[in-house]
Amino acid sequence: MGAAGGEVTGSAYVVEADSARVLVDAGLFQGGHDAEARNRIPITETNGINAVLLTHAHLDHTGRVPLLIKAGYSGPIYATAPTVDLAEIVLKDSAKLQTQDAERMNRKRHDKGEPAVEPLYTVEHVEPFRGMTRQVRLHEAVPVAKGITARWFEAGHMLGSGSIELTAGGKTVVFSGDLGPITFPILREYERPTKADLVFLESTYGDRDHQPYAQTIAQFETIVTEVAAQRGKILVPTFAIGRAQQIIYHLAILFHEGRVKRFPIYLDSPMALEAMKVFARYPDLYDEDLLRLKKSGLAPLDPQWFTPSVTAEDSKKLNDVQGACVILAGAGMCNGGRILHHLKANLWKPETHVMIVGFQSDGSLGRRLVNGEKLVRIHGEEVEVKAAIHTLNGFSAHAGQTDLLNWFAPLANRKPTVALTHGENPQRNALAAKLRERFGISPRLPELSEVVEL
Ligand code: ZN
Repeated sequence: MGAAGGEVTGSAYVVEADSARVLVDAGLFQGGHDAEARNRIPITETNGINAVLLTHAHLDHTGRVPLLIKAGYSGPIYATAPTVDLAEIVLKDSAKLQTQDAERMNRKRHDKGEPAVEPLYTVEHVEPFRGMTRQVRLHEAVPVAKGITARWFEAGHMLGSGSIELTAGGKTVVFSGDLGPITFPILREYERPTKADLVFLESTYGDRDHQPYAQTIAQFETIVTEVAAQRGKILVPTFAIGRAQQIIYHLAILFHEGRVKRFPIYLDSPMALEAMKVFARYPDLYDEDLLRLKKSGLAPLDPQWFTPSVTAEDSKKLNDVQGACVILAGAGMCNGGRILHHLKANLWKPETHVMIVGFQSDGSLGRRLVNGEKLVRIHGEEVEVKAAIHTLNGFSAHAGQTDLLNWFAPLANRKPTVALTHGENPQRNALAAKLRERFGISPRLPELSEVVEL
């Protein structure tokens, strides 16, 4: 069994039974040239893979599926229905970015007299995706390949996300996939598989718990109230799927309950707008709070709560909006996308508020704002920062340490082999120590391409 480890991105696991081989996730490595080079290495002999199984739609779990297709893979791809819908959006966007990246690289290479490179993949390699998928329901045992059965359990991390339990030759392997915190709104709490001989457990936040969610929401309300009174603008750099819906959800509740006088929400992201439609399609996956709100007449993800901004023209017009408003736009780390235009147009105004609701990597514009830099460069121009920069840490869609340990608890009885993945080493080491302390289990910390035998 092959395992990806020691990296936050690029999940992909090959499970090999006597009779068949399946691939669980096929994620893209993200960040830096090193990652780019690794994406270009073939995941595996595609002709030896009988099925691909996806835990959820995020790019770091699905982004190399088009590469498999490009390499000739034509077998089935198993995923929940929302994962298929969201992955299609994610992969099309990725293909577009890959094409743009290659064009940019080739302009430089051309100047240096170097031969052109091909994009990693293009939209042509995403087109067959939907036709290759087989939609699965949670809890249903699905024969995915000869001698291998799979079941998906709610993972509470994004719409459609699941942990996967694989059974082959009397052995059971569980992949946690990415797990959500149990306080995450909109989605149901993760479910806990109860039986495994081998467990792959994510460890993104294996070293800590997040700030309590209620505290984050209180902080959020304070900022929103202040901005409404000041008639300022809130800019929220956000990823298109998950965080954008989460912010709209909380704003709609504040407006509906009359806690803050309603002001416009501009969703300035075609991809987030597409994702919004997918969220509307699967009310059967909503958590109890959202179902209760719906019953009481409040549908916080309903289009009535936000104004779509589709074209670049729509986006530019937002510069002229007067009065309090919130603009949600990508990219989440301010390293590209429409948010840059809004930041450039508004950072110098003291009535602007920037709400940082997600992780900002080192060197990103988002990180420089968080660090309190007073002069930043956007599109080659220096912009003074007079806006208030708020960092809200509790919006994560990843389970913190306590939630990870609680998810694992029912599996501990049989003393399974545990492999910690999807975290950097300090996070994995911290979670490993807790698993030893609480369950007497010493997990493995697999490296990329390492094999775990059962
Ligand atoms: Zn994820």
